[in-house]
Amino acid sequence: MAEKILEVEMVTPEKISFREPADFVVIPAFQGELGVLPDHAPSLVQLKVGEVRVTKGGQVHHFAISGGFAEIKKNKISLFAETAEMADEIDAERAHQAFERAKAETLKPGLDPLTLAGAEAAMRRAQIRIQVASKKSR
Ligand code: ATP
Repeated sequence: MAEKILEVEMVTPEKISFREPADFVVIPAFQGELGVLPDHAPSLVQLKVGEVRVTKGGQVHHFAISGGFAEIKKNKISLFAETAEMADEIDAERAHQAFERAKAETLKPGLDPLTLAGAEAAMRRAQIRIQVASKKSR
């Protein structure tokens, strides 16, 4: 019997950043990490800021994404994310600077809730980018 393959597609408003067959994908669903294999039940899953891992032939590709949703079909998963970067594309220094900038923002006195939420979201994006950048392949 032929080996089952899951087609993985990652789409952002800027580009299609990845389209490859895979054996297994882990996505950052709101309820927690969700593992997706071929023949998964069709579903629509909301994604939070987090790490996506795409495994193919024992090799793992790591991505940082900043929220969106996943459409899962029988043998295809499409990830629609606001931003997505492969580990190798991430500028860790930029992420560290973004983290420090956002952290300083959260510490400002009298911040309105919307600005605070925005700064906390920026900190979370930066943290995930730093985490994923540490998994660069070289
Ligand atoms: P920064 O303040 O450094 O711009 P940010 O969280 O505000 O960070 P986003 O608005 O999430 O940035 O992303 C804007 C664009 O920059 C997207 O295309 C995203 O993929 C890219 N990007 C953001 N941070 C990095 C990074 N550290 N390395 C590579 N690309 C990045």
